[in-house]
Amino acid sequence: MESVAKKDIRALNREDLRSFFLDRGDQAYRGDQVYEWLWKKGAHSFSDMTNLSKNTRAVLEEEFVINHIEVDRMQRSQDGTIKNAVRLHDGLVVESVLIPTPKRTTACVSSQVGCSLDCKFCATARLKRMRNLNPDEIYDQVVAIDRQSRLYYNRPLSNIVFMGMGEPLMNYNNLLKAIDKITGDEGLGMSPKRITVSTSGVPKMIRKLADDRVKFKLAVSLHSAVEETRTSIMPFNATFTLAELRESLIYWYQKTKSKITYEYVVWEGINDKREDVEALVDFCRFAPSKVNLIEYNPIDDGAFQQAGEDVISMYVDTLEANGITVTVRRSRGKDIDAACGQLANKS
Ligand code: SAH
Repeated sequence: MESVAKKDIRALNREDLRSFFLDRGDQAYRGDQVYEWLWKKGAHSFSDMTNLSKNTRAVLEEEFVINHIEVDRMQRSQDGTIKNAVRLHDGLVVESVLIPTPKRTTACVSSQVGCSLDCKFCATARLKRMRNLNPDEIYDQVVAIDRQSRLYYNRPLSNIVFMGMGEPLMNYNNLLKAIDKITGDEGLGMSPKRITVSTSGVPKMIRKLADDRVKFKLAVSLHSAVEETRTSIMPFNATFTLAELRESLIYWYQKTKSKITYEYVVWEGINDKREDVEALVDFCRFAPSKVNLIEYNPIDDGAFQQAGEDVISMYVDTLEANGITVTVRRSRGKDIDAACGQLANKS
């Protein structure tokens, strides 16, 4: 197959493209034009690049491909949430979700095909990690959802959360490259303040984010502030311990001065005791933070059960009594398996 030998043009940066044209005895600014088509205008075909000569387009066609995603299937929930099954150039599939609220449209995007971590309560964990997404594959999900937001809700995308499939910090370089494009003028020009990266908590990478002085927000899927309990539901916690996580978060705050959000599900018999809340309160003291209590979305036979309202109230009251901001999040898109932890390429 001839196309296998061609290079994915979006693996080239602007300078590479400029040199490509210079080396051919053409003008460097052609490279800028192509770059703009590829990123800002989201072109998926060289024939779209109408300000280039036919000959130039043919040369590009000869040398490169534009790998891009295809929204294979779109499902719409009763609450307006849209779930996309996104096919990648090699046939693998990830999911991304558009979540509308009266004032915002949030895109929930994937960073890996499957996931290498092993959270016991998450459907994506069962897929295992197949590969990392490339920067353009992350970027394209955002562009697709921005278009859907304009089409169905008459407004542009306003927020992005990296809470789809995969562990974003295990695909660090590609994640940062994608966010550069999303926030840069040559891409979508979105404010990094409207982007949240959610991690299960990889201490070394949290430190790296801080060192890289990133401007987006950080959310950590904590679920328990008790070492043994967290290890029992998120086994990788045996390696990336809570103690190390805590140190990395203190470091994050020192460097960025950006408040951390802890995502937390309360389950019956797992983290529903007073000691669990107290441990969470203590954990929140290490660095300025707030807590999002998220609803559990059942994924199987019922090994995990969401705790009752009384337990949730105990969490809310105790956190508030200690001056910690807490919000209770209701799930969206449950009827189409689009909610947190349900992304598993089921349909
Ligand atoms: N790997 C990243 C991002 C993906 S998960 C992370 O762990 O943060 C996005 C959020 O959904 C995480 O907070 C995760 O803990 C939560 N989650 C996973 N499975 C869930 C489920 N079945 N119900 C509710 N939330 C779940």
